Amino acid sequence: MKMNEGSHQSMRRANLLKVLQAVRQNGPLSRPEIQRISELSWGSVMNCCEELCKREILTTTGQSISGRVGRRSTMFDFSTRSHLVLGIDLGSVNTRLVLTDLRGNVLRKTVLATPSNNDGKFIVNEVCCFADQWLSDLPGESSRLAGVSFAVPGSVDVETGICLLAPHFVALKNLPLKAQVEQFFGQPCVVEHSLTCLANAEKWFGAGRSAQNLLCLSMGAGLGLGIIVNGRPYRGSKHNAGQIGHIPVVPGGRLCACGRKGCLEAYASASAIGDIAREQLRRTKPGDSGVLALARRMEDITGEIVTQAAANGDKAAMLLLEEVGYYLGLGLTASVNLFNPERITFSGGFSHAFEFFRPKLEETLKQCAWPPCVCPIEVSKLGDEGVALGAATLVLDRVYEGQLLV
Ligand SMILES: [Zn+2]
Repeated sequence: MKMNEGSHQSMRRANLLKVLQAVRQNGPLSRPEIQRISELSWGSVMNCCEELCKREILTTTGQSISGRVGRRSTMFDFSTRSHLVLGIDLGSVNTRLVLTDLRGNVLRKTVLATPSNNDGKFIVNEVCCFADQWLSDLPGESSRLAGVSFAVPGSVDVETGICLLAPHFVALKNLPLKAQVEQFFGQPCVVEHSLTCLANAEKWFGAGRSAQNLLCLSMGAGLGLGIIVNGRPYRGSKHNAGQIGHIPVVPGGRLCACGRKGCLEAYASASAIGDIAREQLRRTKPGDSGVLALARRMEDITGEIVTQAAANGDKAAMLLLEEVGYYLGLGLTASVNLFNPERITFSGGFSHAFEFFRPKLEETLKQCAWPPCVCPIEVSKLGDEGVALGAATLVLDRVYEGQLLV
């Protein structure tokens, strides 16, 4: 049977992707090694390597001696001078940028203060101008980009790239980010919730490398969950999955930023910790409070100061953080019972305080969760660039799934 043009094209693309996958996971590789890993015919390996080099996706990196007769083989690896990926973590305070090659190696990174403005379009334009300048010494400039990805702290329609809602960064609400960025760079743009990006970074480089089902809890101004199910980000039907911060833990309890009462975020977030500490001090005689000694004024107490006081050994601050661990344990109980993850990572601005939460959190999880669903929890090792790197990996996923470049 004669193969039609469409199926010929899709087979060609599938072969190119097999070669790319082999080089991504094991490169640099010789053609015989690519053939062994990809299980393609020798002719297909020759054609694919030639085409990928012609398109400057792969490059030759010298020769190695291989085989019993000691023949020299040309080695193939990704070109780090072309088809780069720009990942941008657009936070309400800071914006982080990473530039990666097609394997996800970070070639350079930087951070800038997010422009302060009520107009989301203006902010995105400023960040794009900064990025363009930052990339201006690349050979070929931004035309070398395979794609740009924006991580935003809000729910995103990933098809249209419109940021729908961003409670902690209201300038982004209803912002058509993808269209604006694609027009600016002339390259494909992916827009995602920052926690989906973080979870994808864990899948590529962190705890998710050995876990197909993963929950990534992030605690900062708010509280959210990035979710990986069966090795892929889970977003829910309306891009709002992972709202762990709004699981009710105290019916009729403290007022949450969302307007409801008793949400987890009203007990376990940077702002909640500061609020609770102030309330406790107003109820008791502040006297020798280590928290107040650090803050000096009641109104200057923040979650960060409570953590510092706990580190200094202040008993009241340690008890408060222990209670945060209890509430986090309740929220995670609901989450692990539903998702049955292999592990949980903890990240965000409060990672350094995790050891204060950990004992009570683990105890609560053990006592309350369905026993087979209890799993290890660890502090993420991705660091401050985790979200920006994760944004880049979402472009890389599209490359390796044949939606970009190939
Ligand atoms: Zn809420």
